[in-house]
Amino acid sequence: MEASGELDGVNVVIHEFAHKLDMLNGAPDGFPPLHSEMDRVAWTQAFSGAFDDFGAKVESGQETLIDPYAAESPAEFFAVMSEAFFEVPHTLRSEYPEVYRQLAAFFRQDPATR
Ligand SMILES: [Zn+2]
Repeated sequence: MEASGELDGVNVVIHEFAHKLDMLNGAPDGFPPLHSEMDRVAWTQAFSGAFDDFGAKVESGQETLIDPYAAESPAEFFAVMSEAFFEVPHTLRSEYPEVYRQLAAFFRQDPATR
């Protein structure tokens, strides 16, 4: 994806790092290996619901608060949501609270409370 500044939720380093995590259990598909206490079903529901919603918004030409590149594939969605999680956590938490919750458990951080 294209490089750009840091204040718009885009962060290439986090993006590529997310892809690397995603590939720890095979081809990048937006489903990285989760911590043992995490619920795989909850993860899948949060991400697939948000991916469908986001894809529909992008498809219909709606302005999105998060990089529309996320609509490309579940793998890109995970990478872009990871960027948003660290760069614009309040935006992500209000747009997709379940995705935010899953990423908070995954990264063991809660950046929106900082
Ligand atoms: Zn990517």
